[in-house]
Amino acid sequence: MKSTKAANTFSENDIRPAHLIDEQAALKLCDVGRLLLRRKEFVEVPCPACEEARFKKTYQKYGLDYVTCAQCATLYISPRPSPDVLEQMYRESEVYAYWNKFIYPASEEKRRAKMYVPRVDRLLSFCDKFNVRKDSVLEIGAAFGTFCEELKSRNYFKRIVGLEQTPDLAAACRKKGFEVIESPLEKVSLKNAFNVVASFEVIEHVFSPRGFVASCRELLTPGGILLLTCPNGKGFDVQMLGTLSKTVCYEHLNYFNPESLELLLKKEGFSVLETATPGQLDAELVRNKVIDGELDVSGQPFIRQILIERWEEAGAKFQEFLAAHKLSSHLWIVARKN
Ligand SMILES: [Zn+2]
Repeated sequence: MKSTKAANTFSENDIRPAHLIDEQAALKLCDVGRLLLRRKEFVEVPCPACEEARFKKTYQKYGLDYVTCAQCATLYISPRPSPDVLEQMYRESEVYAYWNKFIYPASEEKRRAKMYVPRVDRLLSFCDKFNVRKDSVLEIGAAFGTFCEELKSRNYFKRIVGLEQTPDLAAACRKKGFEVIESPLEKVSLKNAFNVVASFEVIEHVFSPRGFVASCRELLTPGGILLLTCPNGKGFDVQMLGTLSKTVCYEHLNYFNPESLELLLKKEGFSVLETATPGQLDAELVRNKVIDGELDVSGQPFIRQILIERWEEAGAKFQEFLAAHKLSSHLWIVARKN
């Protein structure tokens, strides 16, 4: 297996080029407007991880209510846009069109080196570690197809399939030369078909994470593994920044934490094999908000020492500490179908 270490110089600008991100900020407000116009169709939901109905109101952003589960501390949007409203928002989204047209193509090689190569390395290391067969793998939300393309280059799996329902993106995937299913997950009728199902940064977007996980389970062969990544609602940058965090966004309805995502997977017929938060950006993201004057840490001198005064010597080590102790805002979980 070819292994490529994640570069130490990983920075936010590599994967989200600043000048392109600024241009699409206004487009986001159009998406939010689309959602809020149909506010009457929003649905109150219980906790997406444990189904507890009691919650604590946490904050508002974009006119949406973020609440925290009283039992498992999952942060989630409720009431939330119905599946119909979400479908329309994504279909008409200028933000997504902008990503597909400009940001993905402009940043693909940097994204490949910084994100997709490490993702493939991790996936393959899990397959070795947990003795997974290498016949078939499905990526849900294949987007521009970079992950599947990188995986294909390793010659590890016999069959690589990407599920992508946005027509332009599905076309981009096909050009890269792997099998593409252009359909919503719940309409895919392949049962027991894949040794591995992987989905990066998708589950936080879906109306029903339980339904999403159940669909993944149906697609897996018995003993097959599911790999999910998503934000950690109890991670450093999400908790420190709250509504200032870019992760806290109208598209992200669900912010699990390591324990609550494990709980959800166990309830849906999986055994959890590994949970980790290998994030590399938390400290830098929070530090940038302090430097920009958006986050005031004058009342938190200890945090100020780490992020500002002693950043050169302590910043990287602090980020390593967060990652090692499941305190980063970037969450990975691997689970086996029972
Ligand atoms: Zn809960």
